[in-house]
Amino acid sequence: MSESTTVLISEEDLQKRIAEIGQQIRADIGDAPVVLLCVLKGAFPFLADLSRAIPGEVLVDFVQISSYDGEKSSTGVVKLKKDHDINIEGKHVVIVEDIIDTGLTITHLRELLMTRKPASLRVAAALNKFEARTHPAQVEYIGFDIPNKFVVGYGLDYKERYRQLPFVAVLEGATE
Ligand code: 5GP
Repeated sequence: MSESTTVLISEEDLQKRIAEIGQQIRADIGDAPVVLLCVLKGAFPFLADLSRAIPGEVLVDFVQISSYDGEKSSTGVVKLKKDHDINIEGKHVVIVEDIIDTGLTITHLRELLMTRKPASLRVAAALNKFEARTHPAQVEYIGFDIPNKFVVGYGLDYKERYRQLPFVAVLEGATE
């Protein structure tokens, strides 16, 4: 079977939902500046769209994570491969994630960032695989709940490919 993609969420639906989330974030945070912390690499299109959907002052920064789990520990840890530059102490921070799967990454990232004393810390995820959750994760803003299938596009990759697609698609026929 050759590799193929089937559109799951169209570009139009993504943009409509992100506009709503942007307004909601501004309503929840009030007039203060919002610091968007993009989790690289997959959240880059969501960061770009969300940053333009939030009225008022918005700052953007980036983190990149290396996750270690599996054999050694069932809980896993996250380590920052790239840290943010902006000092988030006393700031209203929103972590911008591509997808929440098991919930492990976001749970540990939230814990780590809380030690840096932001005024508030929220999570926005473009996609949520609620059936795959093994760790109860707190996620304030969800673009779309999706079934437990491997998806690509809108920042998500398969072997670094497909990130540039403006829609989310289910990938079929991929060989490991
Ligand atoms: P979690 O710690 O929630 O299990 O991991 C979330 C991460 O797993 C995402 O940031 C993403 O990198 C990866 N991931 C989970 N599901 C998918 C998927 O369907 N497609 C792609 N491309 N990556 C996924």
